[in-house]
Amino acid sequence: MAKRDFYEILGVDRKASADEIKKAYRQMALKHHPDKNPDNKEAEEKFKEAAEAYEILSNPDKRARYDQFGHAGIGGAGNQGYGGGMSMEDIFSQFGDIFGGDFFGFGGGRRQSSRRVNKGSNLRVKVKMTLEEIATGVEKKIKLNKYIGCTACNGTGAKNGTGYQTCSSCRGSGHISRVTNTILGQMTSSSTCPTCGGEGQIIVDKCSVCFGNGIVKSEEVITISIPAGVSDGIQLSLGGRGNAAARGGIPGDLIVQIEEAEHPFLVRDGNNLHFEQYLSFPEAAMGTSIEVPTLEGKAKIKISAGTQPGKVLRLRGKGLPSLESYGKGDLLVSINVWIPQNLTKEERAVLEKLENAENFKPRPDQNDKGFFGRMKEYFQ
Ligand SMILES: [Zn+2]
Ligand SMILES: [Zn+2]
Repeated sequence: MAKRDFYEILGVDRKASADEIKKAYRQMALKHHPDKNPDNKEAEEKFKEAAEAYEILSNPDKRARYDQFGHAGIGGAGNQGYGGGMSMEDIFSQFGDIFGGDFFGFGGGRRQSSRRVNKGSNLRVKVKMTLEEIATGVEKKIKLNKYIGCTACNGTGAKNGTGYQTCSSCRGSGHISRVTNTILGQMTSSSTCPTCGGEGQIIVDKCSVCFGNGIVKSEEVITISIPAGVSDGIQLSLGGRGNAAARGGIPGDLIVQIEEAEHPFLVRDGNNLHFEQYLSFPEAAMGTSIEVPTLEGKAKIKISAGTQPGKVLRLRGKGLPSLESYGKGDLLVSINVWIPQNLTKEERAVLEKLENAENFKPRPDQNDKGFFGRMKEYFQ
C-alpha cells in the first residue's frame, strides 16, 4: 500500500510551523486515541499513522529529508518501510513530550508512559554503489553487527525473563513525588527514582547471557532497497532498524550512507554524465561512426565530417534519474582530436604535401563557433 503524505495525514500545510504540527498531531491523537475508540481497528491505524507522521515532521532533520526526497529520504521507499511502523509503546512514550506527563488520564495503565524508556543507539553503515546501480536503484544485502534483544531473558535482563520485581521505592512508576513546604505554600516535585534509575523495575536475578542488559551482539543480514538517483554522501534513515535498547526500550535507527564508486569511463556531474572521446585526425576530417559507453551498454553516434575538437554531443536521457523529480540527465560526449606524436618518414611526407593545401589552413571564424559559442551550445 502506498504511504500517504505526512502533511496530508496531519492536515497541515507544507509550510506549517513546529507549533502548528504539534497542535495538529495533538488533535489527531485525541480523536483516534484507542481508549476513546475501543476495538476500532481503523482508529488504531489512524492513530499510528499520525504518530509516524509526527515522528518525522517534528524532527527538523528528518522533516528536511522528507521534504526533499519524500518517503525515500527517510527509508520508507521500499517494502521495508519503517520496520512495521511505530509500536503503541513507542507512541505513548512520545506523549510525554507533547502532552506533558499524564495528559490523557483515561485507561489508568498508561502511567507507564512516564517511566524512563531506554533508546537504542543508531547504527551507521556505508553502502558503496556503482553508477549503474544508482541509475536503476537497487536492493542491497548488508551484514550488520548489532545489538539485538537477548532471547534467553526475552530482553528483560532478568533470569528467564521473570527474575525482576516492581521497584518498591516508586511502586513501578519510575519517579518519586516529594511534597515540600515553601513560603509560597506546598509544592510537589517529581524526580527520577534513584533506586531503579527510572525503569520502575529492579532485577533481582540477572540473566547470565546478557549480564542483565537485555541485549546481546549479533550478526544480522538485511535487505534494503535504495532508490535510483542517490549520490555520494546521502543518508537514508531506517527508523527502528538500529541497535536494540537495553531492557525492552525503543531500538535506534539504521543510517545508511551512500558512497559512490568511481566509473572507469564516465564522470558524473549532477544528473549528467561526461565522456571524453578521442578521434584520429582523419576520422574528425572525414567523419565516422563511433560507439560510446553508457550505463546501459554502448550507444552509436555519427561524427560528421569536419568535426572540431571541443565539440560536445548530447545524448538525451542517457544520464542519471533524479531523486527529487521525474526525468533523466544527459550523457555529454566531448570530442577531442588526437594529434600524432611520432611520424614515420612516409607519414611525414604525406603531411608535408598537405601543409600548404588551402583546406588545411585554420579558419576558426568559419567553422568553429569559438570557445563562447561552444559554451552556449553546451548550456542550451
Ligand atoms: Zn538476557
Ligand atoms: Zn523505582
